[in-house]
Formats: sequence, structure tokens, C-alpha cells
Amino acid sequence: MPVTDDIAACRHCADRFAATASGHRPRPVVWFRPGARILIASQAPGMRAHLSGKPFDDPSGVRLRDWMGVDGDTFWDRDNVAVVPMGFCFPGYDAKGGDIPPPKVCAAKWRIAALDHAGDPPVTLLIGGYAQDWHLGRGRVTDRVRDWRALAPRTWCLPHPSWRNTAWLKKHPWFEAETLPALRAAIADTLA
Ligand code: SF4
Repeated sequence: MPVTDDIAACRHCADRFAATASGHRPRPVVWFRPGARILIASQAPGMRAHLSGKPFDDPSGVRLRDWMGVDGDTFWDRDNVAVVPMGFCFPGYDAKGGDIPPPKVCAAKWRIAALDHAGDPPVTLLIGGYAQDWHLGRGRVTDRVRDWRALAPRTWCLPHPSWRNTAWLKKHPWFEAETLPALRAAIADTLA
């Protein structure tokens, strides 16, 4: 059985998720296959992606697609984009309505096999601190994003596109002025 089927059938975190404020069940969002042009190493699905079963099917995804310069059809075509998050399931909300971090056990169980299955796409986006720490070792998101030229055009460290980072975007205007045009050019090039 391919690892994608194994992950889709995983219910390892059922008790953990039942104990969250959202009290939901595991629903792994598995969205990758070999041969994609772009790997998105992300955090975990949000509630809306949990409900629809499609990664980044929410306002964060709208912003991410704008950053990438692609539309939804392009983004959700698994020959173009492979999404391998640190947690394949929505982790839930805490008592204050905040997002719970992805359970570490998910990356321990699945990440190596999932990345092996996805292959080695020519462009990788490392989104947020959890994915960046896993792939690159401990570091600060802002430092890594600011230093994008060190890894481009193959690897891009990005902040999470959540509305929670809107203040970060205003504070760092170079991201939209310099980083995003270069990112869009790299994405267009690999999809051409
Ligand atoms: S988060 Fe990962 S380990 Fe937990 S149930 Fe979902 S697929 Fe399994």
C-alpha cells in the first residue's frame, strides 16, 4: 500500500483531538504524489481545509496563491504542487480559539516516507517555523525569510500566510517588494 493510503487511514491522534476545544476526529489531508514541480512543506491544515479535505482551502491559501502567482486550478493540481505538512490533520483549537501546534508524532511517523514518496521537486517552499526547523535546524523565521537569496531559487523560507501575520508583512515591506517577485518568477519558471 502506498504511504499516501497509510497516512489517509491514520487515526493515531484520535484521543488527542477529541480532547481539544474543537473535539474533532482525525482527517488526514493527503495531497501529494511523485513528480510534482513544487513541494510545499507546511504546518497543518486549518479547520476549513479539514472540512473540505483540500489543503490551503481557506484565506491563508488565497494569500499563499497570491504570493506564488498561481490560481486555484494550478495550485490544486497534484502534478504541480505537493503539500506535505508537519501534521496531516487539523490539530484543533485551544480553549482561547488559537491553533494548536501540529502533533510532533505526525512528522515522526510519516514525514520521511511522505517526502520520499513526493520525490525531489525542483522548488520547495518551507512555510512557517515548524517546517523550517525540521528541514534546516533551529532558527528564526524572520532571519530565514530575509535571507531568501541564500537558498533561492530552489528553496524558499516563507512566513505562514495566516491573517495573524498581516502585521509582520506590514513591518517587513521588502518581503512583498523583493522576495515575492523573485518567488513568482521561480514558480512560473518551474511550471512552464
Ligand atoms: S496528525 Fe498525523 S499522526 Fe495524527 S492522526 Fe493525523 S495523520 Fe495520524
